[in-house]
Amino acid sequence: MNIALENRTERQEIGTLTKPALAVAYGDGIGPEIMSATLRILKEAGASLDITAIDIGEKVYKQGFTSGIRPEAWEAIRESGVLLKGPITTPQGGGYKSLNVTIRKSLGLYANLRPCVAYAPFVRTRHPGMDVVIVRENEEDLYAGIEHRQTGEVYQCLKLITRPGCEKIVRFAFEYARANGRKKVTCFTKDNIMKLTDGLFHRVFDEIGSEYGELEKDHMIIDIGVARLADTPEDFDLIVTPNLYGDIVSDVAAQIAGSVGLAGSANIGESCAMFEAIHGSAPQIAGKNQANPSGLLQAANQMLVHLGQPEVATRIQKAWLRTLEDGVHTFDISTQEHTRRLVGTDEFADAVVERLGSAPKQLTVRDLKSENSSVAKPKIQRTTLDLKALRKETMGVDVFLHHTDLDPERLGLGLTEASTEQLKIKMITNRGQKVWPNPLPETFCTDHWRCRFVHPEGSAVNHAHILQLLTRLSERGYDFIKTENLCSFAGERGYSLGQGE
Ligand code: NAD
Repeated sequence: MNIALENRTERQEIGTLTKPALAVAYGDGIGPEIMSATLRILKEAGASLDITAIDIGEKVYKQGFTSGIRPEAWEAIRESGVLLKGPITTPQGGGYKSLNVTIRKSLGLYANLRPCVAYAPFVRTRHPGMDVVIVRENEEDLYAGIEHRQTGEVYQCLKLITRPGCEKIVRFAFEYARANGRKKVTCFTKDNIMKLTDGLFHRVFDEIGSEYGELEKDHMIIDIGVARLADTPEDFDLIVTPNLYGDIVSDVAAQIAGSVGLAGSANIGESCAMFEAIHGSAPQIAGKNQANPSGLLQAANQMLVHLGQPEVATRIQKAWLRTLEDGVHTFDISTQEHTRRLVGTDEFADAVVERLGSAPKQLTVRDLKSENSSVAKPKIQRTTLDLKALRKETMGVDVFLHHTDLDPERLGLGLTEASTEQLKIKMITNRGQKVWPNPLPETFCTDHWRCRFVHPEGSAVNHAHILQLLTRLSERGYDFIKTENLCSFAGERGYSLGQGE
């Protein structure tokens, strides 16, 4: 492996069988403590791993790498294909990028899998029976990170949803549900408002869901869905949802399970995977031997299943549950009622190691052996759309203007005069609300106008027509800041209508 020696802080081997390669990043804050504790438990449980430690995070950011990762570390991760990652401290300000988002997107880790389980009565929760898996799309949506300030008053963030992206995550969710004995898959979107983007996600969910006849399927609008999840999580089994909703839903779910500090997550791609606790680097308690290593241990267990060592994961899971039952707790989960021994990070790991080989008396052990690690990498078939043959017609253009005269009547008149033979002004909206023709004086307007131009007879137009229109607008002093072509694909409208259209 070609990584510079100074960047390799440690290399060790665990176990004696064939050893899958694993990149390990200890991370920042409490990261090194919980990672050492976790690796010790893995070793004692008989995990077979060939570990390369890499440096990422705060130290690397401060060396001037704004992504928080050096090229050699990328190489090590890509070579092993699997990363177990401690939490990272992202320095404030200074243009530092989120390392998590960079790792997910660069390595194509499209699925974020977060099981949210209650461990009542040993860990306090209002929902003792909760056992829900959140499958979050991990690569697209508003996380494309394409943002612009367009006018003095208006800022924009692009929400990109793709058909292959929806197909991959939805297929993953159904395959995971099938292989793990989950009975019901629920999809959360907001397609009553975002009919094209979230509408696509919902449509793909219905299309792919029809192939899984044995599973119950349901779709909910995200707002009522999250409200119900927070109230009666026992009604849910597995939830699949786009990126931003998934980010929020998975934190809500982990929190109400009562176990934010106990949850791990898996980020799965077609050739790589990354496993981590869901919490951050907790700088306040770093170096004090206080942190709970359980979140990272849960992530490591997901990783062992992924690497085809479910029996080791089950052994660890049993010992860990027994530790919770025996009342050996770190401070964050300790209660007067159930804690018999308050311990630090190292002692907690010792307690789990001591219990390897024993099983819980009350808490349920998930049958990890039945998990098929190939589920983590389902064969994703991209729907065969003949992209080149797809008939596309341009039916008009939305021209966005930065225009500080806030009278829509005057703008409508000016754009009527600026219209060309092929492209005539049809309507103007401000923040999506129609303001011309027939504006209402009550409607609040900003300096950002969407002006829709279409052919007067509804015919298709071409680039030359659009360029001619833009030239006329420019000559008349209109500041166009962006255009969106109004296209139909195989005769199907590919843009939202304004009111009254
Ligand atoms: P945090 O998760 O680090 O801490 C939130 C609270 O939970 C704190 O009170 C902390 O002491 C406690 N806590 C967290 N993990 C614990 C554990 N294992 N045992 C016991 N208590 C624990 O969140 P934060 O304070 O918002 O963020 C701190 C830093 O972590 C920031 O720099 C942030 O950017 C980073 N962060 C990283 C990741 C990641 O790498 N995946 C995720 C979230 C936050």
